[in-house]
Amino acid sequence: MFDLTGKVAVVTGANTGIGQAIALALAEAGADIAAVGRSSCDETVAAVQALGRKAVFVAADLSSVAPVGDIVEQTVAEFGGFDILVNNAGIIRRADSVDFTEADWDAVIDTNLKSVFFLCQAAGRHMIAAHEQGRGRGKIINIASMLTFQGGIRVPSYTASKSGVGGLTKLLANEWSAKGVNVNAIAPGYIATNNTTALRDDEDRNAAILARIPAARWGKPSDLGGAAVFLSSSASDYVDGHILAVDGGWLAR
Ligand code: NAP
Repeated sequence: MFDLTGKVAVVTGANTGIGQAIALALAEAGADIAAVGRSSCDETVAAVQALGRKAVFVAADLSSVAPVGDIVEQTVAEFGGFDILVNNAGIIRRADSVDFTEADWDAVIDTNLKSVFFLCQAAGRHMIAAHEQGRGRGKIINIASMLTFQGGIRVPSYTASKSGVGGLTKLLANEWSAKGVNVNAIAPGYIATNNTTALRDDEDRNAAILARIPAARWGKPSDLGGAAVFLSSSASDYVDGHILAVDGGWLAR
């Protein structure tokens, strides 16, 4: 039920952090990987190949929608098609809302929301057509956040983008579930990656965050692997528009 043998997954931001861990978890479950990134994904490609799966690097800067068509084309040229899309690439900008700049607004919305939608659109077109031709169900997993549910602080464009990702996930599930594509999201809690270095370096914020996590530790990127395999596999064929929190209990507090 969780076996991904013969499946192909496109993972954005696959060079590091959560994207790299998800790429490896999907490969361990049997999938071949198109590792998409603006930085080299050599380490991820080598690790996937070491697991006996095929992997290719697809260079793409997702701060604009320009590379979206190429990502699909290159993946199809390399693998003949694909079944899974993980929209993981994302950025964060921190400043008080009274000082927040238009540049920090646009940069985050363009990468975290606009490119996510248009990559979903391109993948959805491919997956719907592939499903009609008997390829099986497509799976789209968007990476949301605790700030899909909560307000956060000093991150207005990030909160807007991740709240938008939650809405988009449900909308696309409504449109595409009957057409053979499951669209869901994973909302990571506080995970130790480049994205959260500033928080972990701030002693007071670090202590406050840890005090609220029932699991009493920061998450590791590999903690997201099981949820990603579940939402990529036939085990989740009747799961649509769900935002699965993997947060050590943060939202339960
Ligand atoms: P990360 O280590 O900073 O990874 C972010 C990834 O996105 C990197 O691969 C980065 O590439 C890529 N990326 C950023 N801008 C890009 C662009 N314009 N084009 C292509 N790739 C781009 O942080 P992470 O924590 O693993 O973040 C992964 C996702 O999880 C993000 O969507 C983030 O918002 C989300 N998330 C993280 C947490 C957490 O606690 N860490 C919590 C909730 C949600 P480069 O390495 O080249 O910059």
